Amino acid sequence: MNGSGDWRLRAKEFVNRRRQKEEEERKRYSQKAHDEFKREEDRKLKNLQRKFKCRVCGKLPTIPILGGSEQHGIDNEVSWDDNWDIPGDLSQCSMCRGWACEEHIESHICQTCAEKL
Ligand SMILES: [Zn+2]
Ligand SMILES: [Zn+2]
Repeated sequence: MNGSGDWRLRAKEFVNRRRQKEEEERKRYSQKAHDEFKREEDRKLKNLQRKFKCRVCGKLPTIPILGGSEQHGIDNEVSWDDNWDIPGDLSQCSMCRGWACEEHIESHICQTCAEKL
């Protein structure tokens, strides 16, 4: 006798399949959001690289400065956003106001300026 259990099994399989489908859709959605986030970061990075580079070797910035500005969200929670207007791995020379990578700046003076001292 197996007829009486069949519908239970079918109901279970149906629910399982549906759950699987929902799970896949959720994954696809979060992948899409992730891709969009990546694209946006790429765009902001290209923007940053257009504006800044090391004046000695031409190295482009690869990261924004972290925690650039204070943002008050809902619930008044404070979050520190990356500041995409300032490069995180270049420093500004205090003499020429140009930007230089770590290798070409010392005590806030770039190599080009230091060689003229
Ligand atoms: Zn450099
Ligand atoms: Zn300089």
